[in-house]
Order: sequence, then structure tokens, then C-alpha cells
Amino acid sequence: MREIVVISGKGGAGKTSIAGAFAHLAEDTVLCDLDVDAPDLHLLLDPRHRVEHEFRSGNEAVIDPEMCIGCGQCAELCRFDAIAGPDDANPDSAYSVLPFRCEGCKVCVALCPAQAIAFPERHCGEWYVSDTRFGTMVHAQLFPGEENSGRLVTLLKREARAIAEERGLGLVLSDGAPGIGCPVISSLAGTDLAVLITEPTPSGMHDLMRVAELCEGFRTRVAVIINKWDINPTQADAIEAYCSGKGYPVVCRLPHDRAVTDAMVNRQVVTEYDRGQLSDTLKTAWTAILARLEAG
Ligand code: SF4
Ligand code: SF4
Repeated sequence: MREIVVISGKGGAGKTSIAGAFAHLAEDTVLCDLDVDAPDLHLLLDPRHRVEHEFRSGNEAVIDPEMCIGCGQCAELCRFDAIAGPDDANPDSAYSVLPFRCEGCKVCVALCPAQAIAFPERHCGEWYVSDTRFGTMVHAQLFPGEENSGRLVTLLKREARAIAEERGLGLVLSDGAPGIGCPVISSLAGTDLAVLITEPTPSGMHDLMRVAELCEGFRTRVAVIINKWDINPTQADAIEAYCSGKGYPVVCRLPHDRAVTDAMVNRQVVTEYDRGQLSDTLKTAWTAILARLEAG
């Protein structure tokens, strides 16, 4: 069983549109959306949740108002100003934890003289196993402001692999997160091939270099797609020259094409919506990606 992840050094480069097209073209595949902070592959694939799970990670302090004696020690000790209590405006209010500020250090829990502070696991989001028209999809949604996205990515990858192995499917195809942060690092672990989406701008070049360097650190092979190459052919040439020097194959240059937006508006992937040159180019790119995967 092999794993391919589609990533980009920055958001807005067209990663999910291209990942959606590959989801359509791929066979015997489990799909996975690893962009857990801002998932959007579901907008194209319209998944029907078959299994739903809570994602819990880390801990947070919760004050039991029945047990609290109102001494105020917790508010004094908390370095993160995460405990609100009575003040001049609200002299009768009870002590309570502000969940978005609590860093889970447990100081207040340990030092409360009334043992009035519980420390439950934090409910950070939800994850799902769903049916789509292109096969099973594993995906998630972190709640706003929640952390531990890397751990959630690892969980999703493990689930997708287990489903692929159980059903004898040969590929896990993932839409990764943009950037080079924690979820991207987690998505690269154990991945056979990263498809790097870039666009012909100076920042596109810069972000491609950063994410390619990250892939090298993981010894993950890469293939590159230059999206909207025709908005700046000179910069597209510069990216291709950089890739050539590094030995990264550029599997295709995609033109700026309104069909990508029109497909999205119609809640289709571009290879479903467009029957012309754009789809043909993506099919050729997918064949090249599979060949690179097989090259080992
Ligand atoms: S330290 Fe405990 S008893 Fe004191 S205010 Fe905080 S929760 Fe209440
Ligand atoms: S666990 Fe730490 S951060 Fe959270 S409220 Fe208590 S002292 Fe503050």
C-alpha cells in the first residue's frame, strides 16, 4: 500500500482543486483530508458521514462552583490569565476558567485548597469516515482555536491506512495542509510521494523551496505541479529551472482556467466538469505521478 499527499508551501495555490481531480482519477484508493484546521475537500466530494468520532487531546481546567470556596488562589497562580473571578463590575461572579486561554499546565488543579478543579480531556474536534462518489474518505474538523492538529493528522493517516489494508486497496491519497507547520510534518511521516503545488510568483517559488526542503528532511520523493503557469511564464521557467537543478520532476504546468472555479461552483472536481485540455493535462500528470511512485 502506497501513500501520496498533495501539499503546497502556501494556501491558495490550487492544492485542493488538484487533489480533488486526482481523487476522481485514482483507483482502489482511500481518500484523506489532512488539512484539519481548514478542511475543504468535502466541499467538492460531498461526503456522507458513516462513522463519527470525537477527537480529544490535551486537558483543560474546569472549576466546580459547588466545591469552590472562592479563595482566588487559582486566579493569582495562573500565568496565562485563564481564570476569571469577581471584580469591581461583577463582585458576585464565581471563579471560572476561560477555555481559550487555558494552556493545561495543571498548576491550579494541583494547588486548589478545596480540590475544586477537575482536569478533563479537551474535546478539540470531530473526525469522520465517510462515503463519497470516489470512495471512502477519512476527514476531520478541529474546533476553532484548538491545537494538536499534528496528532489528529496522525490519527487520520492511521485510520486511512487501516481501511486500505482491510479492503486490499493499494493507495491512500491525501489532501495535505498548506505551509510547513505541524500538520504538514505529520502528513509527510511515512508518505511515499509528495505532490507539491506551486504558482509562478516570487512567494510561490520561496514557499516551494521551503516545503521541498522539508520533504528532503523526511526523504520523501516529490513531484511538482506549476499551477496557473501562464500568469507569469518567466517565473514559471524559473521554478522549472530550480526543480531541474534539484532533480524534482515537474509533472505538469496547468494554465489559469475558469473551468476550475466553475467546477467548484457546481460542486464537482475539474476532471468531472471539464472534458477538454485541462482535464487531459491533469490525467497526464496523474499518470506521471503514478509512474514516479512505481519507480521506487
Ligand atoms: S483555588 Fe480552588 S477554591 Fe480557590 S477560587 Fe480557585 S477553584 Fe475556588
Ligand atoms: S491549567 Fe494552567 S493555564 Fe489552565 S487555568 Fe489552570 S493554571 Fe491556568
